[in-house]
Amino acid sequence: MIPEVERMTDLCVRLERDGIAYEEHCPLSPRGSFRIGGTAALAVFPQSREQLIRSLLLTRDAGCPYAVVGKGSNLLYPDGEYAGIVIFTGGVRELRVCGTGITASAGLSLPALALRARDAALTGLEFAAGIPGTLGGAVFMNAGAFGGCMEQVVLRSEFWDARDGCCGCLEGGAQEFSVRSSIYMREARYTILGAVLELREGNREEIGSRMEDYRRRRSATQPLGLPNAGSIFRHPPGHFAGRLIEDCGLKGVCVGGAAVSEKHAGFIVNRGGATAHDVLALIDLIRERVLRQTGIALECELRRLDGRPI
Ligand SMILES: Cc1cc2nc3c(=O)[nH]c(=O)nc-3n(C[C@H](O)[C@H](O)[C@H](O)COP(=O)(O)OP(=O)(O)OC[C@H]3O[C@@H](n4cnc5c(N)ncnc54)[C@H](O)[C@@H]3O)c2cc1C
Repeated sequence: MIPEVERMTDLCVRLERDGIAYEEHCPLSPRGSFRIGGTAALAVFPQSREQLIRSLLLTRDAGCPYAVVGKGSNLLYPDGEYAGIVIFTGGVRELRVCGTGITASAGLSLPALALRARDAALTGLEFAAGIPGTLGGAVFMNAGAFGGCMEQVVLRSEFWDARDGCCGCLEGGAQEFSVRSSIYMREARYTILGAVLELREGNREEIGSRMEDYRRRRSATQPLGLPNAGSIFRHPPGHFAGRLIEDCGLKGVCVGGAAVSEKHAGFIVNRGGATAHDVLALIDLIRERVLRQTGIALECELRRLDGRPI
């Protein structure tokens, strides 16, 4: 047996012994909003905070490459097999409301969290109701919409550190939030385990109608009927990426099954059968055209599974 296979087999035995679910050669496309991708050599599905930490420790000790994934709503999976371990956090979703504070685990869906806040008449998280990720993924990239963002509500976040295998907390400015970024994006050794949010007392009906307004605005402007991964590019200072792309005449342009959305040029949609290769070729085409026509270099918000920049 080659060493990687041996390490992976040994890891499966340990996961099995600890009662942690896993799947070998796991198809990735159903686990990402783009519905694109090949397989992961091994996918692990912890169902609690303890199982998540145990999965991370076992994976680190096995010495295999790994990635932590929430809902896969900001990710481009590779077309072939990812020769590493993907730890999906979606089963880790403990939640506790205490006064105006909410303590939640990384795998909790952001829309579910926003609805729970509304039910508790807590305001501040309405912006997140239509962002189809997990709390962990949202803290990682300081997700935001309609003038709100995670930085405004996250009091502190808890992490696991691959360097020493211990857990820790970061509070306030130590989380280094900036536009669609946080310390977690820069420090690959951290996995977010959960966060404490501080919201404000509000009126349940008003919170509900703000969420409904945001939902209507999203469905009027975003291509929600086709698989996509949200905005592909960051907004360059003083510009909207979608507007620049539209002004360059790129709406509807496609490579294979991947197309610039007709509804919102900042989105790439999977019209059916798109591959990661198609999406990357289309991104290259868009960047090249926008740079040539406007002099502006677009940066990707979309991420690869292995963290390499696009
Ligand atoms: C239709 C649509 C609309 C969207 N609208 C918005 C929007 O309005 N605003 C916005 O900001 N985004 C938006 N997005 C993008 C996406 O939903 C957000 O970026 C979301 O925060 C990603 O969460 P996720 O759990 O899916 O992360 P994933 O896609 O699973 O992962 C994204 C990155 O986060 C890392 N990560 C995930 N969980 C953890 C963890 N626990 N610890 C450490 N790293 C982790 C992953 O390794 C990866 O690098 C949209 C996407 C779609 C499909």
